[in-house]
Amino acid sequence: MPDLIHNLEAVQQRIALAAHVAGRDARSIALLAVSKTFPAEDVRAAHAAGQRAFGENYVQEALTKIEVLADLRSTLEWHFIGPLQSNKTRPVAEQFDWVHSVDRLKIAQRLSEQRPETLPPLNVCLQVNISGEASKSGVGVDEAVQVAKDIAALPRLRLRGLMAIPEPAGSIDDQRVPHRRLRELFERLVGEGLELDTLSMGMSSDLEAAVLEGATIVRVGTAIFGARDYSH
Ligand SMILES: *Cc1c(COP(=O)(O)O)cnc(C)c1O
Repeated sequence: MPDLIHNLEAVQQRIALAAHVAGRDARSIALLAVSKTFPAEDVRAAHAAGQRAFGENYVQEALTKIEVLADLRSTLEWHFIGPLQSNKTRPVAEQFDWVHSVDRLKIAQRLSEQRPETLPPLNVCLQVNISGEASKSGVGVDEAVQVAKDIAALPRLRLRGLMAIPEPAGSIDDQRVPHRRLRELFERLVGEGLELDTLSMGMSSDLEAAVLEGATIVRVGTAIFGARDYSH
């Protein structure tokens, strides 16, 4: 899969260049390869090229891939990044290393209760509705401080930081606005005493803006695996 390997390198170069412009160490930004809708073989190829963290949105699809790739389990990380219904939390708590899309306390409580004692605490991010549209998931900026404190107190979770999916914007300056808002909220939470280290923001079309505003994980699908086909 020469395209995939080439794309992976191109994305890493974009991250490195943006980090350079921002005066940041590129190693402080992790690349999460979003493999939703793509076959396990693509994940295996990316893994063979050195990629270690993979993001999935759909529980059933992810569980199938995790099983097919069980032989790689000790050398890769699975991150759940999609909308999570409360009746689907158990396999996520049992199989994943991270959940970026925790958007309410109830989901966090279930994940904490269902995280097996044999595994380390589940790493989670609180998803914030940073653009403020009614249709998007995520907690509002105003309630984020309280929800973050409640999640941080749960025994089987480790709250790592914040995640957002901003509205698409054209120019890099416009793209930076919501990312900056998420970083400011992150700094406020740290100021309130929460020990956070993760800003999960930036995708194929806006990763530079996210890196300039402090992203520590960028979630990139299309630019690595190509356009997604949802027809089957
Ligand atoms: C699909 C998805 C991505 C990747 O988006 P691309 O534009 O393909 O890079 C990132 N984050 C989330 C939450 C997603 O659902």
